[in-house]
Amino acid sequence: MKSKDILKVVLIGDGGVGKTCLRNQLIHRRFTNNYKATIGADFITKEVRLDNGRKVMLQIWDTAGQERFASLGVAFYRGADACVLVYDVNNYLTFEHLDRWRTEFLRQASPNDPLEFPLIVIGNKIDLSSRVVSRRQARAFADTYSGKTMKIKCFEASAKEGINVEAAFEHIARMVTPEV
Ligand code: GDP
Ligand code: MG
Repeated sequence: MKSKDILKVVLIGDGGVGKTCLRNQLIHRRFTNNYKATIGADFITKEVRLDNGRKVMLQIWDTAGQERFASLGVAFYRGADACVLVYDVNNYLTFEHLDRWRTEFLRQASPNDPLEFPLIVIGNKIDLSSRVVSRRQARAFADTYSGKTMKIKCFEASAKEGINVEAAFEHIARMVTPEV
């Protein structure tokens, strides 16, 4: 498999689950608490180094706050190499909506083999003590949509505390560019 220079990764999930904070944590290693909804999507490129010294460039697309509108538009999804579905472990509705987000992703990005498309799930805000979605529930969702070779991995993270954020994106990098 020949790997591309830059891999497009889209972050989706309900507004407020912490997508922008996860990305900020990955890029800047810090948590910024100001919630700013702007118009239009944007991407940031981040080099991820894997254990074996391999470097992978991830171009991470964020929604910029228009999740409340019907659709993010095809340009946001087009050509994606991986998709990150984010929910808030303290908000059940955001977990229930993952199904819808996944469907919308597949509709817009229309990958050749939907069940083998690289996808991960991140349950964010585990630093709060009001969890309502269990690991087992997240696992059940992931198992439902995993393909034969592409097993969807579930991460539980905190953008605020910097827990599991790098690990999740490193997993994506490994998943999309398997070693030859
Ligand atoms: P987005 O709409 O999905 O991009 O969500 P944001 O990244 O803008 O975050 C929405 C709100 O959740 C903000 O007030 C953040 O400060 C808060 N937030 C994001 N991540 C975390 C987290 O890991 N823990 C806690 N406690 N709050 C978070
Ligand atoms: Mg955002």
